[in-house]
Amino acid sequence: MQSDPGNQEYNLLMSTAYFLFLGRLRDFLPHNQREQFNRVDFRGRQSIKHLAESLGVPHPEMGQVQINGQEGTLNTITRDGDQVQVYPIPDGYPAEPRFLLDNHLGRLAAYLRMLGFDCLYRNDYRDEELAEILQQEERILLSRDRRLLMRKVVTHGYCPRSLDSLQQLSEVVRRFDLIKRVVPFHRCLRCNHPLETIPKEAVLERLEPLTKLYFDEFMICPNCKQVYWKGSHFERMQGIVEKLSEASS
Ligand SMILES: [Zn+2]
Repeated sequence: MQSDPGNQEYNLLMSTAYFLFLGRLRDFLPHNQREQFNRVDFRGRQSIKHLAESLGVPHPEMGQVQINGQEGTLNTITRDGDQVQVYPIPDGYPAEPRFLLDNHLGRLAAYLRMLGFDCLYRNDYRDEELAEILQQEERILLSRDRRLLMRKVVTHGYCPRSLDSLQQLSEVVRRFDLIKRVVPFHRCLRCNHPLETIPKEAVLERLEPLTKLYFDEFMICPNCKQVYWKGSHFERMQGIVEKLSEASS
């Protein structure tokens, strides 16, 4: 007799499914589990998404799903014996990307702002606050905390693999195909507000003697009043942009 999904007895039965992860999803698995189908035992009705996450892969990183060779989705209910292949979400992003970064990614936030990207970052966000922001605005969560990325409220997200902030920048630029959207020297590194040009005379008394001498173009953040000019910061940033462009071409 066939089990009825509503039946108590059915819920107690142990089922088994097998998961193979492809491409950069393998980064989330221990080395010896990367090339193989990984066995998951489960009870009751469990989505592909839930079981894949139980193996350590956060859902915002997952794209196409194949179940026994047929197209499935992350919400498909897993059946006993299923062989599941999960592909990474393709590079790119359908809209103007805006980011939200967790407390540990301050340097990455500064780099992304340097390239002109809207980045919310504070070093004291609580997880609940991050979730609230994601509920209110469509933002891409950047975090190395996989449990945070696995939260239901996260639709778009990425887990930087590297601990090095420049390497993280390069990963994020590639993942969201940012290179064509780069507008340097356009956003405040301190508070994320877009900058405005300001005549030199207006900031003259705030400048060091050498800055006064060598620079003529100035920008100001209308929010926090920080003044910017195309000094060493700018040259360094141009070097970074050039490297990123080379890497993505
Ligand atoms: Zn500012």
